[in-house]
Amino acid sequence: MTIKRKRKTTSIINNTLKDKAEFIILVGSETGTTIRFATAFKNELIKANKAVFITELNRYSSYKNAKNIIIFTATYGDGNAPANAQNFIKLIHLIEPKRNLNYSVIGFGSKQYPAFCQFAILVHASLQIHPKFTPEMPLFKIDEQNLSSFENWKNEWGNLNNINLDINLTDLLEKEEETIFKIINNSKLNIDNTFLIRLKPTNKVKFTSGDLLAITTKGEEKKRLYSVAKIDNTLVLSVKKHDLGICSNYLHKLSKTDVIKGTIQENKKFHFPKKIKDVILIANGTGIAPFLGMIQKNKKARIHLFWGGKTKKSLELYDKHIISALENKTLTSFHIAYSQDQQTYIQKTLESQTVLVSNTLRRNGAILICGSLSMQFGVEKVIAKIASQELNLTIEELKNNKQIRTDCY
Ligand SMILES: Cc1cc2nc3c(=O)[nH]c(=O)nc-3n(C[C@H](O)[C@H](O)[C@H](O)COP(=O)(O)OP(=O)(O)OC[C@H]3O[C@@H](n4cnc5c(N)ncnc54)[C@H](O)[C@@H]3O)c2cc1C
Repeated sequence: MTIKRKRKTTSIINNTLKDKAEFIILVGSETGTTIRFATAFKNELIKANKAVFITELNRYSSYKNAKNIIIFTATYGDGNAPANAQNFIKLIHLIEPKRNLNYSVIGFGSKQYPAFCQFAILVHASLQIHPKFTPEMPLFKIDEQNLSSFENWKNEWGNLNNINLDINLTDLLEKEEETIFKIINNSKLNIDNTFLIRLKPTNKVKFTSGDLLAITTKGEEKKRLYSVAKIDNTLVLSVKKHDLGICSNYLHKLSKTDVIKGTIQENKKFHFPKKIKDVILIANGTGIAPFLGMIQKNKKARIHLFWGGKTKKSLELYDKHIISALENKTLTSFHIAYSQDQQTYIQKTLESQTVLVSNTLRRNGAILICGSLSMQFGVEKVIAKIASQELNLTIEELKNNKQIRTDCY
């Protein structure tokens, strides 16, 4: 069964010209969520008879009548600006405001990432040193769209400006399609406290390896994300059980007769690249999940898999999938590093494969990285060195042309 709800629009609409507005709302958003919060805020200001103009951070300009700028921004990837905010820091140095302005910055992010609200921090700091900007409030950070934090910020801002803002908070929640899944299989824990769980959607729903499954357990507001492998029309997740982890323990206890609710989030940036012949997949620990699906399906590509685990026993959870891909020749090579058994890490193994890495990049191939953020940083250092020595390219250039794709947590 699928519960369908209408998606809210995330387009930016104005009914006041930029030079007439007293309040300017600037938004940096990658997925549209932050635009939803900013739009709800804008609508309340309009209800309070204020002249408001809303636009993307990249469209920052001068505003003749503005007194107050409110910035709503997400952070993307490893502390970066969302695509529609990438030029803002440059623009604030190029465009001189017509008069002094008060400003507030509200950052949206997730504490699951070490660079929590990093771009909002940068925006706030850049305005703080600008002589024409005065902070009205300290930087405010919101974790996982937490509605009560947003309400606190909204009330504080409303009090400071003497405006009553009556935003309907439940309208701000992401309304996504929820699917019910049957549990097909739930493996035993391996030596690293990790297990594989296989789920079957109870109705037709589109998903592919590299997408994410969002699960919100009963009584919780926060959703947890899991990388998906699509194998025989089922979802396979590789989950690490944390001692006090709410969702990982909930998933671990499920048995064959159980069903769960979840939302599939399309994660296009991490899909297996189409029409590309040479692909390197790099993972550590549970990060192997999406690759278990990818190595079974893409017969036309030459796929090389690198995986880092603790011990030889860690691999037992996945070896059936890897062996069958090697036997069916959908996987060209498999490279392993055991941190405990061999005292080595996957970035070291990658370093010993300079020719493979440089040839893959030279042939316009792609490298996909999934797993821990610390592994990602280590692996990117190795790739950066090879790319600069062998191809005269930077890691940023490789990321921009999608030759490097990451999904780390
Ligand atoms: C894009 C993305 C993809 C992901 N893919 C995967 C994946 O494929 N597989 C996977 O396993 N995970 C994945 N994760 C991580 C996953 O979403 C969860 O964060 C993870 O499973 C922990 O959730 P939990 O509910 O079990 O732990 P939580 O309840 O959220 O707790 C988090 C941590 O805090 C600790 N903790 C909780 N309460 C306390 C306390 N009172 N005192 C001290 N410590 C405490 C827990 O032990 C745990 O280590 C992904 C995350 C992202 C962002």
